[in-house]
Amino acid sequence: MANAFEWVDQSMGHIYAKQGEDGIIEGWHGDGNAARTALMYALWKTQGVTVHPWREDVRLGAVLDTEGALHIQMEAQRPWNGTLNVDRPRHREYLRLPLDYPRINQFPEWFTAPEGAAFSIQMDDEVPGSVSGEQLWTLPFSVKPGRKRHIIITPATPAAPPSESGTPAFRALRYTPGDTSAAMAWQQELRGKLAALLRVSLPAETEIHHPPLAKTMNTASAEAYERQDIVLEVSESREIPAILTRPLGKGDGPFPAVICIHGHGATRETVYDSDTPYHGFAKVLAQSGVVTIAVEVGQHQVQNPAATLLGERLADLFCCVDYLASLSEVDPTRIGCAGLSLGGEMAMWLGALDTRIKATVSSGFLTFMNQMERNHCICWKEEGLRECADFPDIYALIAPRALLCQVGRQEPLSQFNTVLAKRAFAQLSATFEDLDAGHQVVLDLHDGAHEVCIPTMKTFLLEHTAGHQK
Ligand SMILES: [Zn+2]
Repeated sequence: MANAFEWVDQSMGHIYAKQGEDGIIEGWHGDGNAARTALMYALWKTQGVTVHPWREDVRLGAVLDTEGALHIQMEAQRPWNGTLNVDRPRHREYLRLPLDYPRINQFPEWFTAPEGAAFSIQMDDEVPGSVSGEQLWTLPFSVKPGRKRHIIITPATPAAPPSESGTPAFRALRYTPGDTSAAMAWQQELRGKLAALLRVSLPAETEIHHPPLAKTMNTASAEAYERQDIVLEVSESREIPAILTRPLGKGDGPFPAVICIHGHGATRETVYDSDTPYHGFAKVLAQSGVVTIAVEVGQHQVQNPAATLLGERLADLFCCVDYLASLSEVDPTRIGCAGLSLGGEMAMWLGALDTRIKATVSSGFLTFMNQMERNHCICWKEEGLRECADFPDIYALIAPRALLCQVGRQEPLSQFNTVLAKRAFAQLSATFEDLDAGHQVVLDLHDGAHEVCIPTMKTFLLEHTAGHQK
């Protein structure tokens, strides 16, 4: 599809280039075809939205996001007053056709507002309101010069995904807001389903925790902390290298501890490196009186053929919690986790499935699976996952424990954008609310891009892993 869009853009360039000063293209009836194609092209770029009155200085564009919401942008060089006109289902209303199938010379319907349908509408940063389909056909609107306006129109009842008999249900365990006991029962059910799907055992259900064996390879001192390179024995057949840091000059503890998780193309070292999108968050924590540990989660092949990839990564992180909890200088009730990108995803999983985690920070990841299907490495996708849940449901398993999600305002729409983040956050927040833990969950939309925002992350983790004041 992306290639087809590029081809269309390129081809339109050829058509426009042929047009002379007088508007004539080739001077025969084929010019009509070119004019029609140009109109179709323009309507595609606005998803069928038009403005009335039209004026040459008006700039209008619209795109659909992966959740089916329409994003419109408009600007003008002079003050403009008029109406925005969203398309209607012409095939049905004018032509009495049962569906809008591709027809020769047909003007496709991109986004339509059926009569009687309900939509939510958000103008710029205002609180969203609701409108009917027929109101969207002629929506009064104005633009001031130099001020780009942004409108988001979301169908109130998105089209249900097809669930014909034989087709597996989609997001079957999506959270339905209810009361405290229903929320807790839902969490238990989903946690069990996800553990089975990933083929891991839930730490809370393991009767006895044997502290994993660790070999120390090397010890060095840095500013305010000591660093050890260790090897953790996850199982009889699996050993993984890890970095462990302990605070120096702050007494014997017990200290809080944080598992620091890297993303694609990085290693356990990267989270301590200030010159990366991680801004050395693990080092910042290590210097702030926190025990930190970092392991690798970037492998794309399983070591144990009976394991799933996500399951094997997650079992390594469970092992980090086991190990931290076994250290005398760590307070096992004050363990948190944090990560960026794939690390933000793994932090979500760890916080969701290991209830020993007191606080989770997930940076550069909060989105929906539809978005992740499009242009990402699909190592997030285990068989049966989409049928079961979407990311907001998995995040919701962290409730009532503390959760901070960070998303950069400079993330492009094609990536971990703030629009999807806000929508996902609204969904996961419902579970926190039902568990009387609305105050435990925070969305931090920072001014950066795909990166960690240190100040809010550090404050959040220190606050939520702080010991009781005496
Ligand atoms: Zn991957």
